[in-house]
Amino acid sequence: PLILAIESSCDETAAAVTDGTGRLLADVIASQVDFHARFGGVVPEIASRKHIEAICGVCDAALEEAAAALGQPAPLPWNRLDAVAVTYAPGLVGALVVGVAFAKGAAWALDIPFIVANHLEGHLYANKIGAPDFAPPAVVSLVSGGNTLLVHMADWGRYQVLGSTIDDAVGEAFDKVAKALGLGYPGGPAISRFAAQGNPAAIDFPRAMMRSGNLDFSLSGLKTAVVNYVNQQRQTGQAVPVADVCASFQQAVVDVQIAKARTALQQTGAPTFCLGGGVAANPVLREAYQQLCAEMGVQLVLPPLSSCGDNAGMIALVALDRYRAGKFAPLDADAAAGANLEEPY
Ligand code: ATP
Ligand code: MG
Ligand code: FE
Repeated sequence: PLILAIESSCDETAAAVTDGTGRLLADVIASQVDFHARFGGVVPEIASRKHIEAICGVCDAALEEAAAALGQPAPLPWNRLDAVAVTYAPGLVGALVVGVAFAKGAAWALDIPFIVANHLEGHLYANKIGAPDFAPPAVVSLVSGGNTLLVHMADWGRYQVLGSTIDDAVGEAFDKVAKALGLGYPGGPAISRFAAQGNPAAIDFPRAMMRSGNLDFSLSGLKTAVVNYVNQQRQTGQAVPVADVCASFQQAVVDVQIAKARTALQQTGAPTFCLGGGVAANPVLREAYQQLCAEMGVQLVLPPLSSCGDNAGMIALVALDRYRAGKFAPLDADAAAGANLEEPY
């Protein structure tokens, strides 16, 4: 089948097309980040409006790309599609609604199946983009702007959350620390760039819950420690060593992530470890997992850098599995702000 998948849960409007083998014929992302940057974070009302403006063009671009990939005259006609899929949850409800309404309209007009996908499950499936043979069982670390989860993936669609953050998400901590340093939004890429020039051992920031005995995380104390450090430097008229702060903050995050991943791998005996979410693009985190997995004899799968953040390619791969299983959604299915990964639908 040819499936068009749409993603609009946050501030990326994205569309992708997959064929029946899971190859992505198109994978288009329009980011709104420039419109939100001046406000220091995503403004939900702006996100909804920008999705409305972008969605037709993004889908058209995906159909152009798909035709090119098939060596056929562009664009691929809408009536060549066999299903339309969309992220229905979790995310900003006003943003999700745009993709859901558009996808429903297309499925109804074309009289083809409508499929809904969970965004977090999408981030897990992003691992398949670079590694089509990747298969569970696996332990997955999902680290994004809104989530910090350690998950045991017994099979596709069968997820057990082993631990999660009790306060801020990892990506959120990167964004808040970047804001305190005046590095703009989003913070993750900026912090990892500065960190590359800094000394990760320069400042001893707290590694919260590293030995808590469970697989939960806490990031807000670390964020506060960094903000206090920065304010203290400024108040005493000292320069803020931005690169050292970034490197030391990033190292504190990575140390805890690695310690908990090690425990999760030991507890589950899973042969494979993988990552998902925007923070999975962090080079020091990726390198640390390479070392951990080599040391433990565990296979490591990482999403391609371009598929760590929000994209529709990952949604297309979730949709293909649901298409194969005949799991279609009614046209009165709604967007939902919250959804549990353990019961994705
Ligand atoms: P969720 O997936 O939980 O709904 P989201 O979709 O907003 O949240 P993503 O788009 O998956 O989140 O990830 C965005 C986050 O990734 C941002 O917080 C951003 O700062 C972070 N990020 C991106 N690149 C890096 C990097 N190199 N290092 C650290 N964090 C990064
Ligand atoms: Mg985003
Ligand atoms: Fe996301």
